[in-house]
Amino acid sequence: MSKINLKPGIVTGNQLKELYDYCKETMCAIPAVNVIGSSTINAAMQAAKEMSSPIIIQFSNGGAHFNAGKFLDNTDQRATIAGAVAGALHIRHIAPVYGVPVILHTDHAAKKLLPWIDGLLDAGEDFFRKNGEPLYSSHMLDLSEEPLKENLEISARYLERMNKIMMSLEIELGVTGGEEDGVDNTGIDNAKLYTQPDDVLKAYDKLKPIGHFTVAASFGNTHGVYKPGNVKLTPPILKNSQDKIQSVRNTGIKPVDLVFHGGSGSSLDEIREAVSYGVVKMNIDTDTQWAFTQPIKAYMDEKDGYLHAQIGNPEGEDKPNKKYIDPRAWTNLGEKGMVQRLRRAFEDLNAPEKFTF
Ligand SMILES: [Zn+2]
Repeated sequence: MSKINLKPGIVTGNQLKELYDYCKETMCAIPAVNVIGSSTINAAMQAAKEMSSPIIIQFSNGGAHFNAGKFLDNTDQRATIAGAVAGALHIRHIAPVYGVPVILHTDHAAKKLLPWIDGLLDAGEDFFRKNGEPLYSSHMLDLSEEPLKENLEISARYLERMNKIMMSLEIELGVTGGEEDGVDNTGIDNAKLYTQPDDVLKAYDKLKPIGHFTVAASFGNTHGVYKPGNVKLTPPILKNSQDKIQSVRNTGIKPVDLVFHGGSGSSLDEIREAVSYGVVKMNIDTDTQWAFTQPIKAYMDEKDGYLHAQIGNPEGEDKPNKKYIDPRAWTNLGEKGMVQRLRRAFEDLNAPEKFTF
């Protein structure tokens, strides 16, 4: 099987489709990492560089807000539009320096967040007019709380607009359990946590004629890491959806590009099984948050005697603490922790040694 040839920089349009096809063919997937600013962005790109793999870097609405500054009011989505545009431009400048291909994406946008996506598409169309490619590779709409018909109608309308500037759309069918970015689905009805193959077929019929899309399907996956409970990860649901479309619409194998939300805390077997059924993108957030924070906590504990005043530490009451106080000293430890966790994600997803660029 021939390797796919990617270039460092942002992957969009046909090349993104080819990348996902290649992933399905070679049974690998790309980690999608939630970032909140330059530190987490740099960690994501460093991990991709070390693993010689493309990476998906994504902003949630809250992450985009944080990138612009928590100080800013966001009732009209101005802060999150600016935060996501600035983040994309930042990554566009830095990715070639790291030498890695990056898929730029935004995470969950429920109905009330559509004005955020509208603003990003305005910016995306403007960028496309000037550069011949979109600002972002793809956006996600999460209308899984709406009736299916409405979910697909709104998704179709957005995909029509996005396809004109060579963008891809991620939709959600069924509900990802757990809690993330202020959206709490921990108490939801269990049946909704498992996507129905018929729903995936309906999405395929509606969206396939319009443009490229991916489906975040629910198979018992949850945001966050919890003690094992009543929700059981059931990857064969993904296979059933693929098989249904293949037989009813007479397509090739794995007709749909699937997305695995809530990758944190999943076992290697579960991940590999999901990937074998056509998962091309796996989101990881909680585990990388933990990996970032943990070494900083250790640093604060270990250097406690150096962090109570600018002058005076266990080595002497007139000793300066400048180098211990400098936020770069400990932020970089968080970045390194995140790189380590992401390296494992690439390995779990079978991505290393698949790519040249
Ligand atoms: Zn998610």
